[in-house]
Amino acid sequence: MLAGDEGYDSARAVWNAMVDRRPAVVVRCTSSADVAAAIDFARRNGLEVGVRCGGHSVLGISVPDGGLLIDLSGLRAVHVDAEARRARVQGGALLGDLDRAAQAFGLATTAGNVSHTGVSGLTLGGGMGWLARRLGLACDNVDSYEIVTADGATLRVSESQHEDLFWGLRGGGGNFGVVTEFEFRLHEVGTSALLVDRTFDLAEAPSAMRRWRDLLGDNVPREATPVAWIGTMVDSPGVPSQLRNRTVASLGFVWVGDPDNGLRRLVPWVTSLGAPLAERVEELPYLRLQTVDDEWHRPGLRRRYVKGHYLRELSDEAIDTFLSQGQADPEADRTRLPNGSFQGYGGAIAATSNDDSAFSHRNTLVEFVAATAWTDPAEDAQRIEAARQFGGAMEPFASGVYVNVLGDEGDAGVRRAYPAGKLSRLAALKRRYDQGNIFHLNQNIRPQ
Ligand code: FAD
Repeated sequence: MLAGDEGYDSARAVWNAMVDRRPAVVVRCTSSADVAAAIDFARRNGLEVGVRCGGHSVLGISVPDGGLLIDLSGLRAVHVDAEARRARVQGGALLGDLDRAAQAFGLATTAGNVSHTGVSGLTLGGGMGWLARRLGLACDNVDSYEIVTADGATLRVSESQHEDLFWGLRGGGGNFGVVTEFEFRLHEVGTSALLVDRTFDLAEAPSAMRRWRDLLGDNVPREATPVAWIGTMVDSPGVPSQLRNRTVASLGFVWVGDPDNGLRRLVPWVTSLGAPLAERVEELPYLRLQTVDDEWHRPGLRRRYVKGHYLRELSDEAIDTFLSQGQADPEADRTRLPNGSFQGYGGAIAATSNDDSAFSHRNTLVEFVAATAWTDPAEDAQRIEAARQFGGAMEPFASGVYVNVLGDEGDAGVRRAYPAGKLSRLAALKRRYDQGNIFHLNQNIRPQ
């Protein structure tokens, strides 16, 4: 497809409304042979290559300006073998495609929290979701990959075939080729979920959050993922009236499995956090849980900027910095500041050896993300600066970063995502499979 052709604009449109790049050509692939032909065409014509699945990389890095876009939206099929508990998922599938196909049998595997995110980008970087503390990351649940490499070869990669690549594909991002199919292990998780949180005034939040901290790590069942949020609530009918336009902290957990079990085991504990402004106890289908944030994150609607960190521990000082949203002045107007969130790790994520895959920082206690969203381009500089400030304030407490929340950090970000030993192993792998660095529109590992 060329500019002006039907489908060209939808292929280049991404989640972040700040991104407006125009590829010279878009190739909508429907097979691995198409992908190989597209790579060959790009090479012969000196075109930069971008690989797009869900288009949710923070800075829309999958779309090349003036280059060739490998658009995988024609490869979205998901085939579930319920008896074998396996799903074959094509490289352009979105999380909702996988969740819906697997839940038809009461099955699931770890997938992220917004259903229009791409399976490929998420899984290749690791893949955190509400099932990860119980089942491991998305990448921990991949048995095999089909990948088209820079030289056009199509390989089947597993524990016993191209083992070096199998190690690198589990967390190394889109550096080694175009994945056209994942084979996932599925698990019987039922179809129910539970959301429990309490929302606190800023005066109550410091002590409530110190108690919430006790939920982290192995202190709670693996069905639960502790969550915390700080930000200004929007003025909308869906928000309780006492919270609208108010800066608050929301603390609780997400549970996948029998809601009664979650209520019995954790609600008394949540009650002990303190007296809230509002409380939510919501039983919901797992498929609904997987879409609750979809509308807020509707692609192309808002301009976005994100900063993230991994933390191995959560000190009182880190809690207070989180609750300040990076502002030294407690009286500062907070309405345009980024939201901050924590999501608990541990459980099955930490139980897998760090050496087992390229994914790093398995001993993370919580992941921090500062996220800001706005619509007026005139606010770009101010919004981005505030998110950088929040990220900077939290940095002294950080032990690394998740590669999939990196944006414009460049090589320094990649060095925070992987410890030096892993990075040099990844660089050697890159030299072996993509010496010319054809696949560089990503969090790039340079061939060494
Ligand atoms: P794309 O922009 O399409 O791709 C990103 C990069 O992945 C590309 O540049 C390319 O290098 C590579 N790539 C894509 N497809 C392929 C392929 N088939 N073969 C080889 N390389 C490929 N992460 C989590 O872990 N858990 C979450 O719950 C979560 N929630 C999110 C919610 C939102 C709204 C957003 C915007 C992001 C979220 N993320 C989450 C981060 C997400 O994992 C990354 O942004 C990821 O890169 C998105 O993948 P994508 O396929 O949608 O993106």
